[in-house]
Amino acid sequence: MIETILALLAGLLIGSFLNVCIYRLPRLTNRSVVRPRSRCWRCRAPIAWYDNIPLLSYALLGGRCRQCRRRIPIRYPIVELATAVFFAVVVAYLGVTLPALKFGLLCAIFIALTATDFERHILPDEFTLGGLAAGLILAFFIPNEGYLISMLLPYSLGPRVLSFSEALFGAAVASGALWLIGYLYGKLRGVDALGFGDVKMIAMVGAFLGLRGALETMILGSLAGSIIGLIYIRVARKDWRSFYIPFGSFLGIAGLVIVVFRIRQ
Ligand SMILES: [Zn+2]
Repeated sequence: MIETILALLAGLLIGSFLNVCIYRLPRLTNRSVVRPRSRCWRCRAPIAWYDNIPLLSYALLGGRCRQCRRRIPIRYPIVELATAVFFAVVVAYLGVTLPALKFGLLCAIFIALTATDFERHILPDEFTLGGLAAGLILAFFIPNEGYLISMLLPYSLGPRVLSFSEALFGAAVASGALWLIGYLYGKLRGVDALGFGDVKMIAMVGAFLGLRGALETMILGSLAGSIIGLIYIRVARKDWRSFYIPFGSFLGIAGLVIVVFRIRQ
């Protein structure tokens, strides 16, 4: 119980840091996520530590900057709350363990990518390729479930090598499949349907969840994205050719759902 509460608090802090990343990484200048100190996005006034407490400050300030009274984007408390909730769920099921670290990190990456694609139509390499590297390294220390690749490789290689191979295999096959779908769709319709960021993102998912998890994320994300995207385009009377559907955001939300199903097993 105490672990779950600590995970919740850690999630609030990490979520607050994710908000800095979500704001700064998609921009071309000032991409450091450490310096300078946080400022109001409108009036540039520095934000004091007591106005920077996750969730609490947003509530106390009524969602407005103390200086200029402009609205603080609702994304800030949503990201903090979501990170806290997913960290708590992961630790509640897995305890304070290495697998909990792995799934917690994956949840944080999913939340960040969901936000950057939705807001800026960008999936930063720090999260996709950085996450891919982290997923491959973690696979070596934390065994993957559901070896597909181990049916092809000799069992004598040992669990670490097999787990790493599964992660590499999942990353390569899932991203290759998504790239091919995007390429063929683009050829058929004569549009650039899929950004390469989505391909890098699904490679990251494959490294963390193996091929099965990556395919589940892709299928759930595509279904949700198509259905909600089509409804939105109809209702808002947008032109589907020029309208950007944040596929990465749908992949991120789908991935969070898949993670919860995975850790409950
Ligand atoms: Zn301000």
